[in-house]
Amino acid sequence: MIIAIKPGVSRDEINKLITDLENLGVKVDASQGSSQIVLGLVGDTTVINDEAVRANHLVERVIRVQEPYKRANRIFHPLDTVLEFKCGKETANAAASVKIGGPSFSVIAGPCSVESREQLVSVAEAVKKSGAAFLRGGAFKPRTSPYSFQGMGCEGIDLLVKAKKESGLPVVTELMEISQLELFEDVDMIQVGARNMQNFNLLKELGRSKKPILLKRGMASTMTELLMAAEYIMAGGNSQIVLCERGIRGFDNFTRNILDLAVVPALKKKTHLPVIVDPSHATGLAWMVPAMSKAAIAVGADGIIVEVHNDPEHALCDGEQSLTPEQFDNLMNKLRKYAEIEGKTI
Ligand code: PEP
Ligand code: MN
Repeated sequence: MIIAIKPGVSRDEINKLITDLENLGVKVDASQGSSQIVLGLVGDTTVINDEAVRANHLVERVIRVQEPYKRANRIFHPLDTVLEFKCGKETANAAASVKIGGPSFSVIAGPCSVESREQLVSVAEAVKKSGAAFLRGGAFKPRTSPYSFQGMGCEGIDLLVKAKKESGLPVVTELMEISQLELFEDVDMIQVGARNMQNFNLLKELGRSKKPILLKRGMASTMTELLMAAEYIMAGGNSQIVLCERGIRGFDNFTRNILDLAVVPALKKKTHLPVIVDPSHATGLAWMVPAMSKAAIAVGADGIIVEVHNDPEHALCDGEQSLTPEQFDNLMNKLRKYAEIEGKTI
């Protein structure tokens, strides 16, 4: 249930209304819309008498939200959510920051897996020079085969944190189980991979954490299921979430997955959370990544996450879909122009 407050009502009056509503047993989140305060009610809202609320002199409108996701719903929070990350080397200068959401088009780049210090440092330096805002790299890898490289684990996290200190780029890496959470203290954004999108215990725990979450769409999940996964995290108190379309299963296996570009404008309509696209896992083919990255800008995405490897032919994971640093640099030069047309900055 949404209650739009009339413009110009004082904060004290709004707080009194919130207390009265919470005394009925619902939880109320207040957020600033473009011209008015909007109260979002979650919990058992059947206890609320719509007519009585409508009659309140502070209230402009009362809307019952049909969708099962409430906190992730744009009706609850009309303005875009923008996440801000501190970055820059730890010097005496004030730390710079990068954002995801709003007018930024954020590029996250790096190898599928952290493989060695040399590999990570060289890729981090290269992608930073080309203008990436974040470094990605998997330390704990969800692999289809138990015989494939499973990632460097804790050592991979240490290398990422070192690469972050050296390059100044915030880092994103995947967490597969909650017992690993303490290792992620210096990680800037925790990735929940496609295979874990509906690991509800994991989502609940991440709701209690303060870390930004990159939530990837499950390969057989609907848009509503993705939003409900975000809702689990938000219900626990963490609303720092970036959604990621990474391709879904279809009948045509020419590409690794089917990139559902249409879900991007649909998500942007339904939720205030930023939405990014992963053209690497969606296509599985490096030569398709530039076209799909440009398309991501055109459909209104807030960024992309792209795999870049210093030596794709010898990559321990996902080499076929990884760009070389040079290919990534060419792509960035193009993307800046496309972003400008859409009024976004990289
Ligand atoms: C990844 O980003 O390396 C990854 C495993 O992604 P996904 O969960 O989308 O398959
Ligand atoms: Mn990968």
